[in-house]
Amino acid sequence: MHDNSQFEVIIIGGSYAGLSAAMTLGRSLKKVLVIDSGKPCNRFTPHAHNFITQDGKKPAEISALARQQVAQYDTVSFHNDLATQGAKTEYGFEIQTNLGQTFTAQKLLFATGIKDILPDIDGFTECWGKTVIHCPYCHGYEVRGRKTGIFVNDESAVDFYKIISNWTDSIIILTNGKATFDQAELQEREILVMENTVTYLEHEEGSLKKIVLDSGQTHALDALYFRPPFVQHCAIPQQLGCTINESGHIEVDDFQKTSLPGVFAAGDCTTPFRSLAIASAQGNKAAAMLNHELIMGEHA
Ligand SMILES: Cc1cc2nc3c(=O)[nH]c(=O)nc-3n(C[C@H](O)[C@H](O)[C@H](O)COP(=O)(O)OP(=O)(O)OC[C@H]3O[C@@H](n4cnc5c(N)ncnc54)[C@H](O)[C@@H]3O)c2cc1C
Repeated sequence: MHDNSQFEVIIIGGSYAGLSAAMTLGRSLKKVLVIDSGKPCNRFTPHAHNFITQDGKKPAEISALARQQVAQYDTVSFHNDLATQGAKTEYGFEIQTNLGQTFTAQKLLFATGIKDILPDIDGFTECWGKTVIHCPYCHGYEVRGRKTGIFVNDESAVDFYKIISNWTDSIIILTNGKATFDQAELQEREILVMENTVTYLEHEEGSLKKIVLDSGQTHALDALYFRPPFVQHCAIPQQLGCTINESGHIEVDDFQKTSLPGVFAAGDCTTPFRSLAIASAQGNKAAAMLNHELIMGEHA
């Protein structure tokens, strides 16, 4: 009889990285539990792009299909819940959840993503993922040639401007306060840098119309780029002692191993290169390495 609380691998986070890993491990006949709290970072965007075979689909459609495909492997179980605590045990790891469940496994994979921190400006959250966007590879094509702002106030502003100018030549920079970087190169290119505080974003159901500044000035815009600061979505890796690097990501090696033996991580929680393709690829690789360790009998 199966023990429904003991697994070879617990995957925390059942989105693109986690489901991709679950498929590889399921196909490797491993007894796996996927614990997921159902809050992927791209849930605000109506359409996902730049993921081959899925271009333009709704994110929830892509992950529902992924989950359906993974569910066909009967060694994989799902638990919809929030993992709240993790501990090292004699034989591996123990995970506790919000609903009071305790699960154990020989190995862990964190595919828990990150939480974006948006500024407290009216309209920002409503437009996030629709016309306030973080990545030109995901959404730049859809707003090519349109009136575009970049919300940035650090040394990355000039490079950010150059990258976005690949998609549009109508660009202004919004620093939302006194600019803290050298503007010489932008001035040479006659790029408008607006240093006023942004009061709100005027929009219709997330479709940006204009930004309104504290001076009362307005500026019509169709799109606004913003690379948000973030926190790890899940605190357990850090609690367990996994190294978090300077950029705030879980440190992993080329095989997605964290600094803690037996603990792997994949997807957005490990890298600034945020994409469905990269998250899926990392989950796939982590799972192959986890399977390898299990076969070779490498203990945590
Ligand atoms: C607004 C937006 C739009 C984007 N658009 C695109 C696009 O068009 N194309 C593209 O390629 N990429 C896009 N991306 C990037 C892409 O969405 C991410 O790279 C991808 O979602 C990362 O997958 P992941 O599995 O690492 O993390 P996520 O998809 O964020 O999933 C993490 C999962 O872990 C779960 N979780 C976290 N902590 C716990 C816990 N303690 N217990 C249980 N579960 C937990 C969460 O609920 C979530 O389901 C976009 C990102 C954003 C923010």
